[in-house]
Amino acid sequence: MLAGHLWDGTGAPPRPDAALRIAGERIEWCGPAGGLGSNAGSEVIDLRGLWVLPGLIDAHMHFWGLSPGGATPADFQTRLETAQQQARDLLHAGFTTVRDLGSPMAPYLRDASAEGALETPRILAAQVGLTGARGPWLVPQPSWWEARVIRGSESAREEVMRLHEEGVNVVKIGASTGPRAEGFGDIPTLTEEEIRAVCDSAHTWGLPVAAHAIGSEAVRRCVLGGVDTIEHGYGLSDEVCELVAASNAWIVPTLRTRAMRLAPESQATSREQMDTLQRGVAAGIRYAAGTDSVGDAFTRHGSGNALEIELMGRVLTPEAALAAGTREAARMLGLDGEIGTLRPGRSADLIGVHGDPRRDLSLLQRVEFVMRSGRVARKAASVAGG
Ligand SMILES: [Zn+2]
Repeated sequence: MLAGHLWDGTGAPPRPDAALRIAGERIEWCGPAGGLGSNAGSEVIDLRGLWVLPGLIDAHMHFWGLSPGGATPADFQTRLETAQQQARDLLHAGFTTVRDLGSPMAPYLRDASAEGALETPRILAAQVGLTGARGPWLVPQPSWWEARVIRGSESAREEVMRLHEEGVNVVKIGASTGPRAEGFGDIPTLTEEEIRAVCDSAHTWGLPVAAHAIGSEAVRRCVLGGVDTIEHGYGLSDEVCELVAASNAWIVPTLRTRAMRLAPESQATSREQMDTLQRGVAAGIRYAAGTDSVGDAFTRHGSGNALEIELMGRVLTPEAALAAGTREAARMLGLDGEIGTLRPGRSADLIGVHGDPRRDLSLLQRVEFVMRSGRVARKAASVAGG
């Protein structure tokens, strides 16, 4: 494969006139175009007009299978078909890996994709959420996805074991109500002890814990309890920002969802998210990109998911925002040996865009070429054949 420019995600400067050799699912070699050599029988994909970068990662989304208009979901089969289409749309938009933090569809899509029956991004699935008896956690419609209530540490451990048996890839907890500017408050819904019990148990089974948490108190409990990723994570005091920065936890700020809604409450939430992000970056918190898109009219799954990286780029440097959607997200998911950078040995998950994304992050919403695990998923008509 020939690349006009290669931004490999490792932190190295972009390399003009680059090439990659791909064997099966993996990158075998990267280097200057002149070093590619010729290999009889192998196909050369000519992306000399494009910037090539690692496939994008949406580290927080939901396949709820809502109808495109955002209407109340129909029966399960219809929702599953919608979710299949959305998974394809996401892949074609350049998202080669997604983490679904709660939906009944994700495990089906993940398994069908692994069997080769479906074309989707790589999917990590939480399936259900665990929350405390004190609600309401934001589960708009109980039928859309399931939240199980835990009462005390013993119950926390039992529910985590059940999730492990059900085959989830990550344990999702709802540690606070929220979003708060929209009338849901930011009340902690789990005790620090319960959170610690979830985390200790999950880590025993090799599962990370992702916590929906808004407001200083809920986030403080999550950090002290040992969660791996904090979802939303805004409304934080400087002190709690310092606490997060000193911990192993990451924050996924989920900027897209509120930014897309025009209601004044959503806009207030959006401003608060940006304010916390600014202070969090100054404190040294680690961030990964995740949209919290659910596939409704405001947050359709597809090219718009890349808006998250553009929004992060208003606070982070463009280089850091790109990393948040590639290398850093891969590190957060524990998949950095596999994806997130373009290096020999890594999965051939990559995209091509028309121009330098560091100068214009909105280019990520117009992806021209997508490859996942060495297979071409999308090639725009503007891309030369090979
Ligand atoms: Zn979510």
